[in-house]
Amino acid sequence: MTKRMFIRLLAAIVAAPVIMRLLAWAGGERLKNWAGNLEYSTDRLYAATSLQQVQDHVKSENRLKALGTRHCFNNIADSKDGFLSLKAMNDVIAIDPAARRVTVAAGITYGQLCPYLEGKGFALHNLASLPHISVVGACTTATHGSGEKNGNLSTAVSGLQMVTASGDVLKLSRERDEETFRGAVVGLGALGVITEITLEIQPTFTMRQYVYENLPLSALKDHFDEIESSAYSVSLFTDWQKQRINEVWIKSRVEPGAAFDSTPDFFGAKRATRNLHPIAELSAENCTEQMGVLGPWYERLPHFRMGFTPSAGKELQSEYFVPRQHAVEAILAVERLRDQVSPHLLISEIRAIAADQLWMSPCYEQRSVAIHFTWRQDWPVVSKLLPIIEKELAPFHPRPHWGKLSTMSPTALKDAYKRMPDFLGLCRKYDPRGKFRNEFLNKNIFGD
Ligand SMILES: Cc1cc2nc3c(=O)[nH]c(=O)nc-3n(C[C@H](O)[C@H](O)[C@H](O)COP(=O)(O)OP(=O)(O)OC[C@H]3O[C@@H](n4cnc5c(N)ncnc54)[C@H](O)[C@@H]3O)c2cc1C
Repeated sequence: MTKRMFIRLLAAIVAAPVIMRLLAWAGGERLKNWAGNLEYSTDRLYAATSLQQVQDHVKSENRLKALGTRHCFNNIADSKDGFLSLKAMNDVIAIDPAARRVTVAAGITYGQLCPYLEGKGFALHNLASLPHISVVGACTTATHGSGEKNGNLSTAVSGLQMVTASGDVLKLSRERDEETFRGAVVGLGALGVITEITLEIQPTFTMRQYVYENLPLSALKDHFDEIESSAYSVSLFTDWQKQRINEVWIKSRVEPGAAFDSTPDFFGAKRATRNLHPIAELSAENCTEQMGVLGPWYERLPHFRMGFTPSAGKELQSEYFVPRQHAVEAILAVERLRDQVSPHLLISEIRAIAADQLWMSPCYEQRSVAIHFTWRQDWPVVSKLLPIIEKELAPFHPRPHWGKLSTMSPTALKDAYKRMPDFLGLCRKYDPRGKFRNEFLNKNIFGD
């Protein structure tokens, strides 16, 4: 089913009074994830338009998965039994300017939410590389942007409403439910169907984005901390060739005392004279405005523009988080694999993320640097490369991105997440019979 057909079918059910099954295979094609590398294991796709419908559906099904915007590359969202889409439930439910909070229904995407917030004079603290993803799908997998002082997107969550396996509604808040809340926010779709999410907001701000080309690897090695702290958000793109970082993307907040001083030279890299795509051969038309042009936060924090294809489209992605203090060693370890990695790579990105308190976040109690790989879509090759990269990174105890491809063992994951037993306890409490479990969770979390 094409993306357009998926959207059209979902739009058709918005006015329906009861939960509807969508004919996912209507075009003769099975439902796939965004990148098309994963064909989901069932064609039973239902769509809800109200909390009551979600409750009724959860009660009536033995097993199901909530489906967001389908941007994960692995099978975390997959189901053999049935999907529930909340895409039509995409309203802003309430904004509280005094408390600086917004509550939204679970189907909303950042692309829908951000212009609304801007219109009300507010902003989010950070965004991922693309605005196309659902807020809930992003937060439940600990999706992140860049900036050493910025926590991942789920750190903005201050409240959740979800339908648990019994069909009951559970409300959690950061203040009231401290520990349970910290366990539930990065919930990997395992605890229930989230129907509402509350996010912290802040007064709107403007930004400028500059891109620099050809940062020598030696400069990165010697000045990593200065480079990372040079602006609100810093992204390093490399193909691991020629001992250099191909592009440095610097996103700077325009506010007293915080502006980035854009000199033509940045640690040996040269300021670009035209907009660029992270993958040099692709059109920069898909990318957010660069060259220091002033713009609102939500049109500078992502790399890719709403309404345009983000990244390359036909691709695979992997990403590993390592502790910040090992960042340079970990980067150099991957660089040593350049001759194996580069031929199959579209681009790599290196980003810094602040520590947080969310049990299943890769940044749990750990300032982190994430090393990301956008691969050519060739799983037989990539599946052989990942163990090689994982072996090189093993001394730094990497934590893989929950929504991207990795071959790390369940045992390694258990070692990496010391709150895993507590998380399992939450799963058993809210989903005692495994209604929301799937192959991914069975293997990686429950160790079956
Ligand atoms: C081009 C591209 C660029 C990307 N850039 C970044 C980036 O910059 N940073 C980053 O960290 N990641 C990035 N990602 C990964 C992406 O952010 C994650 O895969 C994210 O989970 C996508 O959200 P989704 O709604 O599409 O999730 P889906 O794939 O639809 O689902 C993911 C998980 O969320 C669960 N879920 C969805 N909705 C609900 C609900 N209502 N209740 C309970 N569980 C739910 C699903 O069951 C599943 O377990 C990128 C992906 C792509 C394709």
